[in-house]
Amino acid sequence: MKDAKLVAKSHVNQRSSIQISERVAIGNQEIIVIAGPCAVETYDQMATITQRLCQVPIQALRGGVYKPRTSPYSFQGLGVEGLKILAAMRQQSGMPVVTEVMAISQIEEIAHYADMLQIGSRNMQNFDLLKALGQVQKPVLLKRGLAATIEEFVMAAEYILAHGNPNVVLCERGIRSFDTYTRNVLDLGAVVALKQLTHLPVIVDPSHAAGKRELVPDLARAAIAAGADGLMIECHPEPEQSVSDARQALSLDDIVNLTHSLKPIAAAVGRSLGTATVGLPRAA
Ligand code: PEP
Ligand code: MN
Repeated sequence: MKDAKLVAKSHVNQRSSIQISERVAIGNQEIIVIAGPCAVETYDQMATITQRLCQVPIQALRGGVYKPRTSPYSFQGLGVEGLKILAAMRQQSGMPVVTEVMAISQIEEIAHYADMLQIGSRNMQNFDLLKALGQVQKPVLLKRGLAATIEEFVMAAEYILAHGNPNVVLCERGIRSFDTYTRNVLDLGAVVALKQLTHLPVIVDPSHAAGKRELVPDLARAAIAAGADGLMIECHPEPEQSVSDARQALSLDDIVNLTHSLKPIAAAVGRSLGTATVGLPRAA
């Protein structure tokens, strides 16, 4: 990986911490949990989720408003209406929000409403999009491509840094393999390798890796044990009713329990959970 100049570690202990809001940073000693539905569906759905999640050690909200769906006939996301819902949730709770950008034409609008811009797996090697996100200063959550090698993943991050944006967090979300029991195969080896190769924070999305909710909690704990800096997990007040990715959505009770269960795992690897958002002084 001789071309990985900017993302490569210059010394073995080099670590970057990426600030996503005034008080939330990914890559420090604290484990950061980003949670929310696959897609923003309604104001009430997001308000129910936000009110619950802000009370536990979950630091950021997620929710897609531009959805990369396999079928053109599936729900494509609420677009700007969804961005306004996310912004309202941030306003109410003080939690930063993360959402996916699928096209260069969406960057300005999404950067106006969201705290962190996600590049989805299907766009990991959309080089024009990577270059354009290099020109914004909002942090970028770069998800590993469906069948991307570790080197391709690292070089996709290098594009963003090379074009001027140093605020990149990597997300392992499972890769395609022959087995159809799980949606993808969670590659924890990649988490370990990425932490050795790059100074960037690495988080894990066990939801898209597993595709089945009953597998998510154990994979989440394994990810923290393997050295991940955080997690991104899908949840829904009525998981079975989710308009997308229903099979992998955790209930709110399940994600609250999962979050608490991370504590001893984090402690075992010298980390701790981030704080709950409720009760913290509000950012200006
Ligand atoms: C998502 O996070 O909602 C998503 C579409 O994930 P991925 O790009 O990893 O499939
Ligand atoms: Mn999803």
